[in-house]
Amino acid sequence: MFTVDAHLDLSMNAMEWNRDLRIPAAELNARERARGLTDKPDRGNAVVSFPDLRRGHVGLVVATQIARYVAPDNPLPGWASPEQAWSQTQAQVQWYRTMEEAGEMVHVVDRAGLDAHVARWLAVIAAGGDTSQLPIGYILSLEGADSLITPAYLERAHRYGLRAVGPAHYGPGRYAHGTEASASLNAAGRELLGEMDRLGMILDATHLCDAAFWDALEIFQGPVWASHNNCRALVDHNRQFSDEMIKSLVARGGVIGGALDAWMMVPGWVRGKSMPQGMNCNLEVMIDHLDHICHLALDAWRLVGFRPHRLGFGPAAPPAGPSSGEALPHKAAALAIPSGTPPGCEPLSWSRCAGRHEPPDLSPGDPAAPRGLAVPHAATSVGAPTRRRSTRSCRSSLRAGSSRVTRRSGLCRDTLRTSSAAISSAGSSASASPAPSA
Ligand SMILES: [Zn+2]
Repeated sequence: MFTVDAHLDLSMNAMEWNRDLRIPAAELNARERARGLTDKPDRGNAVVSFPDLRRGHVGLVVATQIARYVAPDNPLPGWASPEQAWSQTQAQVQWYRTMEEAGEMVHVVDRAGLDAHVARWLAVIAAGGDTSQLPIGYILSLEGADSLITPAYLERAHRYGLRAVGPAHYGPGRYAHGTEASASLNAAGRELLGEMDRLGMILDATHLCDAAFWDALEIFQGPVWASHNNCRALVDHNRQFSDEMIKSLVARGGVIGGALDAWMMVPGWVRGKSMPQGMNCNLEVMIDHLDHICHLALDAWRLVGFRPHRLGFGPAAPPAGPSSGEALPHKAAALAIPSGTPPGCEPLSWSRCAGRHEPPDLSPGDPAAPRGLAVPHAATSVGAPTRRRSTRSCRSSLRAGSSRVTRRSGLCRDTLRTSSAAISSAGSSASASPAPSA
């Protein structure tokens, strides 16, 4: 099974946490514990690195750049100027480049590259081969747009391969307010979305505050995904999506990835105190979030997926259950492309949303022309209509292991049955959460 991780802060983890991600997470943790590091709240709790990803057949990730600007009165961590934030993201790009040169990663910037990379992995997996030497593909995304000094910087970023942007993160943003903040899009945010449309980029709606979310969906005409979001109906917080937001994303053909941060999964979580076991926070809870989305959108299993974890930080607030890279397919399996899937029949939307791109045209002489991974809005449809069925019965079949399923429903059934097995067989990696940052 080939798995896509839709949101990994790999370069931040490498550059700000000083973790060499070529080393297994268990060894990284052992080193940090041995050194007694306490400069970060989750030292010694890394969840995954390259070897773990490969072992879990996570062959494609949406990898981020991230650097927040903070005004003097903003208590959040961040950089004192957009110029510093931009420079930080450029260091992150250089780390990705260096990992490419080391054979660890492959930058996916267009449909052809995506197809070739996935085909390479699927061939090895189908043959039962060794994935430990395969490069991990990455689609570059920017989480929070503060580091773009002006909207014009977006074209520069597109030239080096940026293909998706989430305008907001936590708090007030230069382009859009995010989690735990509230404001409509400002003029710069609107201009940024226009640039994203012109360049054919993907909008990541995750972290947008409600007002900015609705503004963005009205203004932006291109493809939309939400890389790591859960349901407000189950855990009330503005970090989560309301039912209306979910419906609007579904109507746009967007893809929603679940976030496996405990505080976003179960109500009543007290950050820094609650523990997953005590809160009964496990992957079954994640299924409830996915099921809620499906209930809103009927045949929407094709639209949802797990975000395995905020791997870049370590398990500040993971659900109880498996935490190793080997467990990732169980956590992230709703994003998976089963090995042996016939060409053109990929059942899942991440690959389609990311892959419905025209070959990039990075020639600098025609700034008005669509560039890079141009994805017309109409192309974000997830393919031919599929037979609708009860999502409740889908969940039931997942848990019961029913065999009377279509190929697509078989995917989610097998996915979640496997997840349940993993939950029951694996120990907990739980730790108290000092603060959310997913
Ligand atoms: Zn996030």
